[in-house]
Amino acid sequence: MEFSRSSEQDAFLDTVRTFARERVAPRAAEIDASGAFPTDLTQEASALGLMGMTLPVAAGGQGQSYATYAAALEIVSGASATLAVILSVNNSLVAEPLHECGSDVQKATWLRRLASGAALGAFALSEVQAGSDAGNQQTAARLDEQGYVISGHKVWVANAEVADVAIVFAVTHPGVRGRGISAFLVPLDSPGIVRESAPDSLGVRGLGCVDLRFDDVRVDADALLGEPGHGFRLAMRALEGGRIAIAAQSLGVGQAALDEAVAYALRREAFGQPIGNFQAIQFQLADLATDLEAARMLTWKAADTRDRAPRATAEAAMAKLQASEAAHRAADRAMQILASKGYRRGSTIERLFRDVRASEIYQGTSEVQRMIIAEHVLA
Ligand SMILES: Cc1cc2nc3c(=O)[nH]c(=O)nc-3n(C[C@H](O)[C@H](O)[C@H](O)COP(=O)(O)OP(=O)(O)OC[C@H]3O[C@@H](n4cnc5c(N)ncnc54)[C@H](O)[C@@H]3O)c2cc1C
Repeated sequence: MEFSRSSEQDAFLDTVRTFARERVAPRAAEIDASGAFPTDLTQEASALGLMGMTLPVAAGGQGQSYATYAAALEIVSGASATLAVILSVNNSLVAEPLHECGSDVQKATWLRRLASGAALGAFALSEVQAGSDAGNQQTAARLDEQGYVISGHKVWVANAEVADVAIVFAVTHPGVRGRGISAFLVPLDSPGIVRESAPDSLGVRGLGCVDLRFDDVRVDADALLGEPGHGFRLAMRALEGGRIAIAAQSLGVGQAALDEAVAYALRREAFGQPIGNFQAIQFQLADLATDLEAARMLTWKAADTRDRAPRATAEAAMAKLQASEAAHRAADRAMQILASKGYRRGSTIERLFRDVRASEIYQGTSEVQRMIIAEHVLA
């Protein structure tokens, strides 16, 4: 496992750090309060190359390693968890599978646009009855002489409020669950697609989450992404990268919570001294720092595996499980240390406390990660 970074990677991360500190952090509270998709920040992130980080340079990307991508997402997430998720969806769940499985025409049409910010991508897998049980898809794609006709209803599709294109999963061969699902690359302005507002969200607000209704949406046969019946496999491969990204996003939130707690412990006085002098506070900070560092190591290991090996299934699941739960613990303990200063609407820790919770839910709940890890352990 490689921990060192080249000077170019360091320079890239320095640029991301400056962007996060100067452009993103000042906007985080307002994005949270309004719940509005931050189109302008997404464009600025695109101009810095944050939309196609792991794509080869020849495909319009930055050619960064997965470890550098994860480090960049952690930095962005420390400023705004919402922006980090927006970037992770476009990078891991749309651009990467398109690069891996797309036809020459699909790549020529979309890849550079997705990497440059000229277009934004979304990933439409979940349905009302198909969350953890993602193989239980009801959206169907029927083949006729002119192509496919897609009908169904997707829920909680991040970025989709403003996205230009989505990878949409639909059943092409009924009755065989995962083996009957195909993936389609669907422009979201296709006739018959209705963007419906999703429920108001507790955290990571401003993600542009909407439900998507497909009413007999006609697409050409060449909208198929990869082989027919290989959609579920494509989704699971994309989610491996996505879970590493969510681990990194969780770390950004967890580290921000720890930083808040440390700063407060140094300045808040009780019983005539800073509360950071009390061992009860010190031990909490020590445990959180250790917990997050362990999660960071797992995240880097998963990223390194993604770069070097054909699959990183268990590594990605372990990284996401540990990082999302460690970040949750960090936000919870930081809230305890800030006490009434944290437990008020509009405090930073209040936002982090809400933002962190989704990491244990999207791209596979903690229970789903444990199922994947258990299968690996028992194999
Ligand atoms: C903010 C946000 C953004 C999202 N973005 C996207 C997106 O861009 N694209 C997309 O496709 N989806 C997206 N989702 C949906 C997300 O992936 C699902 O919510 C998630 O997979 C869980 O599905 P569910 O909510 O239907 O819960 P369910 O699957 O109904 O699970 C309910 C509970 O049962 C548990 N459970 C289920 N099965 C088992 C089992 N076999 N063993 C043990 N426990 C089990 C779960 O862990 C959970 O605790 C998003 C969700 C959120 C909240």
